[in-house]
Amino acid sequence: MTQRVLVTGGAGFLGSHLCERLLAEDCDVLCVDNFYTGTKRNVVHLASKPMFELMRHDITFPLYVECDRIYNLACPASPIHYQFDPVQTTKTSVHGAINMLGLAKRTRARILQASTSEVYGDPEVHPQTEDYWGRVNPIGPRSCYDEGKRCAETLFFDYQRQHGLDIKVVRIFNTYGPRMLPNDGRVVSNFIVQALRGEPITLYGDGAQTRSFCYVDDLIDGMVRMMNTPQGFYGPLNLGNPVEFTIRELAEKVLSLTGSKSRIERKPLPQDDPRQRQPDIALAKGKLDWQPKVALEDGLKETVRYFRELLAQ
Ligand code: NAD
Ligand code: UDP
Ligand code: UDP
Repeated sequence: MTQRVLVTGGAGFLGSHLCERLLAEDCDVLCVDNFYTGTKRNVVHLASKPMFELMRHDITFPLYVECDRIYNLACPASPIHYQFDPVQTTKTSVHGAINMLGLAKRTRARILQASTSEVYGDPEVHPQTEDYWGRVNPIGPRSCYDEGKRCAETLFFDYQRQHGLDIKVVRIFNTYGPRMLPNDGRVVSNFIVQALRGEPITLYGDGAQTRSFCYVDDLIDGMVRMMNTPQGFYGPLNLGNPVEFTIRELAEKVLSLTGSKSRIERKPLPQDDPRQRQPDIALAKGKLDWQPKVALEDGLKETVRYFRELLAQ
């Protein structure tokens, strides 16, 4: 039987790649998005497919549809966007999770939550394992996102315990690739766009802080594998690329791949910016037989190609 899959946030960066992948697997895909940070352009190439449906809807309001599986990705993910309207960010994570869990409860659908490495905050444990509870500031500028996502995890596990829901929770680490927004402030898109435009590369702090960057195709593969694990395995499960780079190294890689003459310009480090982040993916390796395949250099080349085309339009 054809699986009916609801993807919230389906017109966003990760969501649009996920819709593509699910259609390739012959699923019937309902993409729900309020276009806050997503765009129709990301899914326009899917619009003519008979198994694809796009619906404008804000998940902080109830949604009555029929489906077998739900991927809950709706939530702005870049600091600029999630801090623009922080109350709405928390509502999307918390009210949105309640509505999607209510929908899963009524339809008995399996539901996967796109959580985040931000639940670990500025971590004291390195690399981060799933049993680490995190070090998150509850009242800072990043809290709407971090605490919203933490509360969503709580709701998922309470709906599981209280109502027997079939849940899956993945914690996604920094992911990049084509269809990131050029102006969303995330480091990979910022650096590539700045390099291509010959503008200064904005390095926050001394650039010694680290991140581990996962290419979008690897991430989506991990997410789909998690959805397909046997009932009773809930996670949380880390998904990301464990190869860690300093932000300065990233800047230098982007400069060399684009052949840009942009100079590096130091800017103040934002408040509560985590110093280091690297996923421990032993659980994903064991449970999903998964690990990222795309090296940073190769993924960056694809992403540079995408932004080159976009900026030329
Ligand atoms: P994105 O901003 O491109 O996608 C989010 C999508 O959700 C957008 O299309 C947006 O319009 C939509 N949306 C926002 N609020 C909504 C609402 N109330 N109702 C309906 N739709 C709404 O971001 P992304 O990078 O694709 O992230 C997708 C998910 O993955 C998010 O939940 C994010 O927290 C999580 N995540 C992403 C990363 C990453 O590095 N990309 C890392 C950790 C977690
Ligand atoms: N909900 C929804 N779609 C559904 C079923 C429920 O959006 O198909 C919403 C509903 O509006 C409710 C929330 O999900 O506010 C939580 O549902 P639940 O059944 O857990 O709670 P209750 O309806 O008892 O408040
Ligand atoms: N960063 C930077 N210059 C930029 C954008 C980001 O140096 O133009 C740094 C930022 O301070 C952080 C890292 O890059 O240390 C990753 O930032 P991003 O916003 O992409 O993700 P997050 O902080 O959520 O991991």
